[in-house]
This record gives sequence, structure tokens and C-alpha cells, in this order.
Amino acid sequence: MGQKVKRFFRFYPFIQDFNFQLNMMNTIERAIQAFLSHNNYPQFDLKAILFDMDGVLFDSMPNHALSWHTVMKAHGLDLSCEEAYLHEGRKGDDTIQIVCRKQGVIISDKETKAIYKEKTEIFKILPTPVRMAGSYELLKKVMSDGLIPMLVTGSGQASLLDSLNVSFPGVFLKERMVTAFDVKLGKPNPEPYLKALEKGNLKPWETIVIENAPLGIEAAHKAGLFVVVVNTGPLSDSILWEAGANLFYPSMLALHEAWEKIMEYFKLKI
Ligand code: CA
Repeated sequence: MGQKVKRFFRFYPFIQDFNFQLNMMNTIERAIQAFLSHNNYPQFDLKAILFDMDGVLFDSMPNHALSWHTVMKAHGLDLSCEEAYLHEGRKGDDTIQIVCRKQGVIISDKETKAIYKEKTEIFKILPTPVRMAGSYELLKKVMSDGLIPMLVTGSGQASLLDSLNVSFPGVFLKERMVTAFDVKLGKPNPEPYLKALEKGNLKPWETIVIENAPLGIEAAHKAGLFVVVVNTGPLSDSILWEAGANLFYPSMLALHEAWEKIMEYFKLKI
């Protein structure tokens, strides 16, 4: 911003704020228009919001990354905590087989399952992950808007799935959840999101997705869905944009704060 413009806004701050708000609204409107026209969909008619779990509802990714690194090391395999974030959203068995293949290790299905079981045990003894700040408040807004929250996760981590009803009481009904147990092909395959459309009896323009990881974003994008991304982890914004983000927020708290503005645009039925 030039010096003259900065001086002008110092004297008329309300105009800058108005200008900022206008820019924000335009970003949302532009994202919706581009998405609808690219997919050749009619206007949005929102009925449900599809939530990923790890890194969106729970601040659980540091524990996942640490348990992955620990279990791999114990089996002579190499996966840094940072690399674990690039596998986020994948089914556990798939992650193990990909890491083995890359390192030239041949592994049976039985061994794969044993390593995954071990990983879930390590995760269980780490401190219980807390709710992501802003996530419960956002879910309450979603429900008060008359929208249905659904869960779409690649996780088979029973200890975390079982705690959903404690952390988010009455929010996710079993028939509105897609987990590792419901799909053959996990993220980045679109199957989990297509399964959610089937379970919720939804058309792609009746829902949007909240995701935080490249593989999850890719899965939702391939399923033809609008993806709102929250960058709650260590990866760069560009990796998440390239995976297929339609709208972008730096945290769940920021998304929670922007929610009413976002919904105004979806209700406009652009
Ligand atoms: Ca995630």
C-alpha cells in the first residue's frame, strides 16, 4: 500500500475496514462462482457440512505424527514427524504399505495390520487430544443454521472415534459418519466423500467440506465438492491450495469467526 493511501486510511479508518470487508466478501463470492461454473452445478442449496476429524475437530495431529514416527522406527522404517503430515487422512494400512514400498521393504497384510495396531496403542497412551479451538462453537453454529454436521475421516483410531460423543455431545450420529471402517479406498481417493453423499442422500451442491490436509482436500476435490481449508498444521499454505482448496482460513477459530459471512454468500444462491 502506498504512503499516500496509508495516510488517507489513518484519517478514515472506517473506509479501510469497509474496503477490507468488501474484499473478503468478494473472495467468497468469487470462490463460489468459480466452483459452480467449473463443475457445471446449479446454485448451492446447503443441507449438510462435512467435517474431517484430525486437525479439524481435534488437535490430534501432533500425537498421530509422533506415534507414526515411533512405530516406524521400532520396525526399522523411516518416517519423520514432518513426513507423517503428508500422509494425514490416509488409511493407516495404506500409509504403512507406501512407506515400506518406498524403502524397498516387503510386508504382508498381517504384518501391516500388526504395525497399525501398535500405532493405535502408542497413540492411546499419549495425552488425550483436545478439541481444536473454535471447532465445537462452529458445530453449534452449523446446527443452529439448520445444517446437518457429518463426519468424514480416514481414521480407524477407535480411542478418538469413541470420544467424539464426549467432546461433541449429540453432534455426530452414527449414520452420519464415514470412517476407515466404511470404505475400501481411503483419502486421497474420493470414495469417503462419495460415501458421505450417499449416506446423507446429498447432491454435491448441497454440502461443503471442512478439511486441513492435502490428501483430504484432494479426495473432496475429486468428489466434486467445495472445500473450505483450515491450515492447522505445519505444512505451507501453497501445498493445501494446490491440493484443491476453494476457500482458505488459517485456523478453526478464524473459520468460526468468518462463518456468518461465508453463509451469507451461500444463502444468496449465487
Ligand atoms: Ca485431517
